[in-house]
Amino acid sequence: MSEMKTLLPGATLGLLGGGQLGRMFSQAAARMGYHVAVLEPGKNSPAGEVSLKQITRSYDDAEGLQTLAQCAQAVTTEFENVPAKSLAALAALGLPTAPHADAVAATQDRNVEKSFIERAGVPTAPHQAVKRIEDIESLSDDLFPGILKTARLGYDGKGQARVHSKAEAKTAWESFGRVDCVLEKMLALKTEVSVIICRNAAGDTAVFPVCENHHRSGILAYTVMPARISAELASRAQEYAEKIAHALDYVGVLCVEFFVLKDGTLVVNELAPRPHNSGHATIEACTTSQYEAQVRAMTGLPLGDTSLRTPAVMLNLLGDLWFDEEGKLRSPDWASVLAVPGAKLHLYGKAEPRRARKMGHVTVLGATRDEALERAREVARILNLPEPN
Ligand code: ATP
Ligand code: MG
Repeated sequence: MSEMKTLLPGATLGLLGGGQLGRMFSQAAARMGYHVAVLEPGKNSPAGEVSLKQITRSYDDAEGLQTLAQCAQAVTTEFENVPAKSLAALAALGLPTAPHADAVAATQDRNVEKSFIERAGVPTAPHQAVKRIEDIESLSDDLFPGILKTARLGYDGKGQARVHSKAEAKTAWESFGRVDCVLEKMLALKTEVSVIICRNAAGDTAVFPVCENHHRSGILAYTVMPARISAELASRAQEYAEKIAHALDYVGVLCVEFFVLKDGTLVVNELAPRPHNSGHATIEACTTSQYEAQVRAMTGLPLGDTSLRTPAVMLNLLGDLWFDEEGKLRSPDWASVLAVPGAKLHLYGKAEPRRARKMGHVTVLGATRDEALERAREVARILNLPEPN
């Protein structure tokens, strides 16, 4: 990795990926006087719309990477499935990258990721790699019932199958096209939490308050910040995140997703080498947001104060909300949502609503967590969403 020198406002920051995480990064960067150049193959991308420029090329296009290297002074990513090779190519062109290619590569394969986490001294769910047919025969009975997950390219619960026996594991593995997989034991979860941590090239870290995450159909539905867990468990989660960030020699923003088991045990589920959906509320709820932290880390500036200013609940807005009972398009009632005290609307500028597509989110602030939750339930009722518990 190239030496990270301080890049002052006025510099251009390169961004791989043009989705909503990139959009919010770009907004934070612009506020501080930076320009952002996005490399993203899709036209009219959420990040491209609010950035100085978009290079509309695929993430591994040599010319696109060259153009990005010419106009940017450092580069980051908003998408973990950007090829680690692209980051390596940009580093070879002399551009500091945050995160560096090796750290991203380690998070792109669930098997590699899990061995890395274990080597850092942090527990994961019991698991075994499935790469060849013989691996299925040798699976431990203890892992059933389990979840077979493709090692690469999974998101929002895609590339996963629940299996109860070796025979079912074999069928699922074949349905995935015999690609590298991992079988994880199905654990009894009490709750799910995540920790977002930011680290700079000097090895300083700043950690955000723990997020409590609730999923529906494999997709994050809402996050409560700070999480309703004991202070002891929260600091353990934050310590684990620190260990992992240091072990990866990570530079940038990293999200560590955890399972809290029924017996109180904490294990890591997976990592995301970028800001995370569960951290959207940091924009309003923390002194420094995860997006501003990403800017600060990649430019070599002090990481800032990531502590909580006010409790918050974040509700994801999926494309389903744009369809009425007959499947006709409609606009959700934003005026009523915005009449709720503490409600802040974020829409990502995606032209076409689709079911299960993340279109935006609402962050609801309150003087206390209970007040934020109560207000979030009111927003949910207006939007016809299940109410947060
Ligand atoms: P995302 O991109 O939304 O984080 P993903 O596709 O990467 O999701 P995972 O995070 O591995 O998938 O799993 C999605 C959800 O499925 C988890 O948040 C959890 O609710 C459930 N889940 C996954 N693995 C297990 C497990 N071993 N035991 C119990 N529940 C699990
Ligand atoms: Mg996940």
